[in-house]
Amino acid sequence: MRHIQRRIALLALPALVGSILVATGPAGADPTGPSAATSRSQPEDRESVRLVQIRLTGADMLDKVAAAGFDLEHGLRRVPTGIEGEAVVTAEQVTELTAMGVEVLADDAGFAWSDQADGGIGVDAAGARAVQPSNHQATVRIARADWFTTKGQGFLYVEARTTEGQQADPIVGMQVENDSGKGTPFGFARTMSRFVDSGQYMFHRNLFKLDTRPTRIQVTSSTGGVTTGVVSNWLENAPPPLTANPSYKSDFVDGYKHPQQLYSRAKEIARQYPDIAEIVYLPNQTNGYQRKAQAQLGGTGQAAVVATSAAWGHEGGNEITVEFVDRPDANLPLAVEVTGKAVRVLLATDAAGAPASTATQVADALRTRSAGLIDRAHPYRTNEGSGIVAPTAGPVALTDFLDQKRVGAPEGEVPRGPATIPVLRIGKHRDGKKPGVLIQAQDHAREWVPATTSLESAERLVHNYRSDRETKKIVENTDIFFILSNNPDGANYSFYNFASQRKNMTNHCPDASADPAQRNSWGVDLNRNYRVGSGHDGYAGGSTNCVSGTYQGPEELSEPESKNIIWLVEKYSNIKFMMSVHSNGGQLFWQPGAYIADGRITTPRPPLGDEAFYWQSAARILSQVKAHRETVVTPENVGGSSDVLYSSAGNVREDLYYTYGIYAFGWEVGGSVYNPATGNWQGGSFQPEWTGNPELVSGHAETMEYANGIMEMFRVAADWGKDKKDPTSRLIPGDGKYRGPVDVRFETSEPATIYYTTDGSRPTLESPRYAATEFREPGQVFHVTETTTFRWFSVDSAGNIEKNYDPTKKDKRNNYRTATITIAKK
Ligand SMILES: [Zn+2]
Repeated sequence: MRHIQRRIALLALPALVGSILVATGPAGADPTGPSAATSRSQPEDRESVRLVQIRLTGADMLDKVAAAGFDLEHGLRRVPTGIEGEAVVTAEQVTELTAMGVEVLADDAGFAWSDQADGGIGVDAAGARAVQPSNHQATVRIARADWFTTKGQGFLYVEARTTEGQQADPIVGMQVENDSGKGTPFGFARTMSRFVDSGQYMFHRNLFKLDTRPTRIQVTSSTGGVTTGVVSNWLENAPPPLTANPSYKSDFVDGYKHPQQLYSRAKEIARQYPDIAEIVYLPNQTNGYQRKAQAQLGGTGQAAVVATSAAWGHEGGNEITVEFVDRPDANLPLAVEVTGKAVRVLLATDAAGAPASTATQVADALRTRSAGLIDRAHPYRTNEGSGIVAPTAGPVALTDFLDQKRVGAPEGEVPRGPATIPVLRIGKHRDGKKPGVLIQAQDHAREWVPATTSLESAERLVHNYRSDRETKKIVENTDIFFILSNNPDGANYSFYNFASQRKNMTNHCPDASADPAQRNSWGVDLNRNYRVGSGHDGYAGGSTNCVSGTYQGPEELSEPESKNIIWLVEKYSNIKFMMSVHSNGGQLFWQPGAYIADGRITTPRPPLGDEAFYWQSAARILSQVKAHRETVVTPENVGGSSDVLYSSAGNVREDLYYTYGIYAFGWEVGGSVYNPATGNWQGGSFQPEWTGNPELVSGHAETMEYANGIMEMFRVAADWGKDKKDPTSRLIPGDGKYRGPVDVRFETSEPATIYYTTDGSRPTLESPRYAATEFREPGQVFHVTETTTFRWFSVDSAGNIEKNYDPTKKDKRNNYRTATITIAKK
């Protein structure tokens, strides 16, 4: 079974902006439904007119082309390199377009997309369309229809699209009906909610509480589209968790842990279990749990002066005092006296002997004449500092404010200064040959449950290795890297000073935001500091404002904590899986996770095989979470994070997936749980009471249930590493003679990506990829109107290629797959 290095430069593949998704049938789409039911009128002259995909450099060219009489109404969208769209043209007009500088992306006159694969946003341009329905019918497609139960209550989640969804006047309404079991009629019509993001219609979606499991649903749009679909199970029938083994040990973590506790336990584990564990130290020390000492003096507004020590507070800054001194005589110049750590600013006086120094003058004097004690002094915020500074009542001590512990902070001193982050590596064979899994917790300081969840998972591995077969298999077949807290400075600040701290403690702020009242807002959002789809590249969701909660940093990878992650995955290139563990939300994410707001251009969608593998893995992981106390992460909270939630520019997942081909998950643990007593979902928090209600919001319960999920992720990785089985695939319907146009699609035996051609050439990794009809939907349907031969191969998530075909070089055996759809001429 041939294995390819499957990370086929995802970013370099055709700039397919819009589409993809799901896969091998988790969605509720009814195989006999939409494609069979929709009527289609054929174009009058299919020989001479074609629909082609085009790319224009920008609005100027669009104006020019439109002025020349081309009809470009259909499917225009912004892409990073300009504007893409479709044009209905003759061969002659293609030449004309090309002469105007228009790039014709695809023009393949053998087959056409059916209109199920058409319309809506971001249709994949991987092929071309020979024909196009001249009368575009409103259609409805079901992306998901999922049933689940939690704590005795049933729920139906429905996601459906209408091709008219973007229409604003009037907005298209959608209704869903369901049956009450096999053979029962549709009823219980409910209105669906339209989900629009960044100006783009996404889909309609709703979660409904139901007492009886329906088998089918019917979705109707106000413009006349209608379709039916089959209801699937979501996380039903979860297999028994590892904890079902009576001798299995769990429940090790007894409360929240600050970074010192986490790191010292990690080192202890490495000492106790040297045959399966070790510590890897990350090379870049953090910028430190430390701050410069500060004071704001001299008055308010224009008279205020902000003074900041050159030394860190704990390295002498906190010993500095500053005094503004009034003197009795007239017409004295401004002077500064420094004795030890005491700085005395002798204020200037006017002719009447009154103080006459402005805030700007005093700040300048402090900065330049304090013998190096004060290296940053300025007026308050954006003031010019034109006010006259008032004398202080005496010496004012500068402080870093880190001794002011918040109520309820743990006992003990917090080590000041930079921290070295240990990585706890667990695996029997740590030789780089087993698939590596990186568990990275607490990028965001206030998220305490991710750290305990990760520690609990590590404890379960080492304690059960000798006694539990399943755990032994994990330890022997994976190479696991735990970063129990990736933001120790911020985490300490969250534990000891300011519970809601999110970012690290690096202050990149200019003077306007550098006064001590802003100190709880400084820092970089580590999960916005990476290089792919970053705010620096124009993606949405990262801020350039240093006091914003999502401040992205002055440049990509500006922070040691994010540099370390890149170092780790480059040094240990066997790392193929990653989970960035956050709280709280009850969500499981992957790519795309960021978009450019103008046009809602996402990072490239993963190929269909990856998408299907993500869904399959998610179902395994979340089933194990559910097995603990029936917590259900709902399907509306699973998928590409920017598809279901929002764009987070420069997040770690985008970088690791697109740069290194790592399956990179993002997890929001905690979050909503269903409360049968009230009939409502109850939200979580960043630091839920550890021993809160074990059925509702509790740090302990969340730690235990999400540790189940992390353990399952290890099993996913172990299975992936052992996957040597080639995928198989088929075209449905296959080879044959047909009396009229046929709708065909591909199916694979497991999550796999298909590369195909229809032009007689042998398929390669550069050939079009079989894509989803639209994101979060199953694979597209081709409407074949003329005899067409498909040539293809499939590649599974572990890189195995169907029939051992080698797409990278001329292979005399040509053992790719083929099927010819022969359409009889009338
Ligand atoms: Zn977070």
